[in-house]
Amino acid sequence: MTSSALPLLIVGSIAFDDLDMPSGEHRDVLGGAATYSSLSASLVAGGGVRVVGIVGTDFPEPHLEGLRARGIDTAGVERAAGKTFRWHGRYSADLASRTTLDTQLNVFADFSPKIPAAYRTSPFVLLGNIHPRLQVDVLEQVQKPRLVVADTMNFWIEGEPQALSQMLSRIDLLVINDEEARQLSGIHNLVRAAADIRKRGPSMLIVKRGEFGALLFDEGGAFFVPAYPLEEVLDPTGAGDSFAGGLLGYLAARGEVTPSTLRKALYFASAMGSFCVEGIGPSRLLALRRSDLSARITAFARLVDHGGELALPG
Ligand code: AMP
Repeated sequence: MTSSALPLLIVGSIAFDDLDMPSGEHRDVLGGAATYSSLSASLVAGGGVRVVGIVGTDFPEPHLEGLRARGIDTAGVERAAGKTFRWHGRYSADLASRTTLDTQLNVFADFSPKIPAAYRTSPFVLLGNIHPRLQVDVLEQVQKPRLVVADTMNFWIEGEPQALSQMLSRIDLLVINDEEARQLSGIHNLVRAAADIRKRGPSMLIVKRGEFGALLFDEGGAFFVPAYPLEEVLDPTGAGDSFAGGLLGYLAARGEVTPSTLRKALYFASAMGSFCVEGIGPSRLLALRRSDLSARITAFARLVDHGGELALPG
């Protein structure tokens, strides 16, 4: 953890994923939003990441040891009687879309996040994609964080509009994909959809567009970060969570949320998303060193460096 780094609390799913990829089938892969986000955040921040989630008795302790070995505090991971949350997804041949074949909530069904006393003053909070009522419950247990970021999905947008609207009124930044932004606002144009969503609570909104990058909307207007161009994509699972973890990891490490740090954080977010998709499950994130990140950030800076002012000639 760098000297000015501040702790980051991440709440979300920890899972076994069954992944049907065009290249083959993978079973019992370590997954879950909190897993991807915490691995990503911890690599960027160099530590200071605290996770709250739930696993069953079938969850191997070495998975949690693996997180701890990467500087992640897992004291907030509850082990309950029963089976771990399980998700089964199948990807299309071009990996551009996926279908959920099965979701078994198991111990996640009765999950009620309990924030340990030592975590309650965490200045940075990432609310992974869980029931919006539980996201609000987390906020009831923490003391005035400096930044609250949340993710959500179509399931809650359709099924729990009231709880979602309460959650939105209590967060600073919402990170969702373009389809979700359109669904939430009922507006197709993303600029207008963003303006509508920002009126509902979060002063900042990030709209992820997969291989087409991401857009930040805040009081400064719109800002774009591309996705890092890769030769080979193996598995997009967890890319969005890795993006959010990278973003928060950078902000927590810098200990501030200014418009300029937020714009830089987006490059770390996109870089972490790009690493995630290079391996099946979190395998690439687990093998990553900070020097790999540093090299990708240098390459990223070259990708978007046009060499100075963009002045109209003549
Ligand atoms: P992403 O690819 O960023 O959407 O995240 C994929 C991860 O989300 C997988 O590892 C799944 O275990 C997890 N996941 C899938 N469905 C749910 C759900 N309904 N609630 C919480 N986590 C989920």
